[in-house]
Amino acid sequence: MIPYGKQDIDDQDIQAVEDVLRSDWLTQGPAVPRFENAVSQYCRADHAVSVCNATAALHLACRSLELGPGDVLWTSPNTFVASANCALYCGASVDFVDIDSRTYNMSVEALGEKLKLAERTGRLPKIVVPVHFAGQSCEMREIRQLADKYGFKIVEDASHAIGGRYLGESVGNCRYSDITIFSFHPVKIITTGEGGIALTNDALLAERMQLLRSHGITRNPAQMSGESDGAWYYQQIELGYNYRMTDMQAALGASQMNRLDAFVKRRQLIAARYALKLSGLPVILPWQHPDVYSAFHLYPVRVEKADRQRIFDKFREAEVGVNVHYIPVHTQPYYQQLGFGWGDFPETESYYQEAISLPLYSSLTEGEQDFVVATLKDALQ
Ligand SMILES: *Cc1c(COP(=O)(O)O)cnc(C)c1O
Repeated sequence: MIPYGKQDIDDQDIQAVEDVLRSDWLTQGPAVPRFENAVSQYCRADHAVSVCNATAALHLACRSLELGPGDVLWTSPNTFVASANCALYCGASVDFVDIDSRTYNMSVEALGEKLKLAERTGRLPKIVVPVHFAGQSCEMREIRQLADKYGFKIVEDASHAIGGRYLGESVGNCRYSDITIFSFHPVKIITTGEGGIALTNDALLAERMQLLRSHGITRNPAQMSGESDGAWYYQQIELGYNYRMTDMQAALGASQMNRLDAFVKRRQLIAARYALKLSGLPVILPWQHPDVYSAFHLYPVRVEKADRQRIFDKFREAEVGVNVHYIPVHTQPYYQQLGFGWGDFPETESYYQEAISLPLYSSLTEGEQDFVVATLKDALQ
């Protein structure tokens, strides 16, 4: 079976995890800050808060920006459910902005139109979560301009995009946003098994996320009410969670960071080779925005809606584990029950009905890729 995505673990990664297992600390030890420093330095963000997965990072981002009942968060419907669920965890509500027909990212035009309307009805969003679909950054400069005009916060869901660049700078530097999150699930660009991180240039947001990551408990006397009872003393000053990353995960992540640039370069090469081999076929290839260097988490192609099911089944019969990204979030039964439905975001829905993600990961061989291409050619006939 050729899967659509897969981790790339080498002997150094294994050694890094083994070293932790033989050390004094399995969690809350030195590997966690080491990994956080590696990511924040790579991305050139001031602060990094690692957590147990990116869903937790989205939740902490929303909590630290004080999203709550009565507030609204907007995101793209072409994403994994977690990008929207984080608002519901906070008791806020969710709405969506349809995608751009070329990048499949949140459309800046649709966002601008929706904001104009929302201003009139007094329902402006508190947070907008642009999702860097398939590893390609959203048009952050334009989204930032809208944020300055309408006063919302920005959380970049960059789960697909570590190692990618926008206008020549690393995704994750938070130049245009308040917080950026990455996922380290095994299908993503680098992995920690499960894991996520939140980056920010705002020291207060970082402090709040650190507090909420660990039960809302502080050991810092300056944050306590009244006097500290002594060196053993802590106080719970917020309702937080246990969202910590372990040292095994962090050590794996730090080791994977050494190969991040190589991983992305390899993904870029495989994507370029797909583009070459698939040119001339009746499929729409993923368009690349000139301002963006994509991390290429995914290689989504579009086929005729009427043929998608048949082509998908052909791939699976040939043991090629293609996938579909994404089932529009607003069409999930849980979201339909909140009042959304088919027809709400037509660009996202028509993209969904034509999309197939071809296998793309750093260890995919040319032979395997040729087999994927041959299978697609076969299926298109
Ligand atoms: C994978 C993913 C998430 C969730 O990441 P986890 O680390 O699995 O919690 C969120 N958003 C997007 C766009 C993702 O692809």
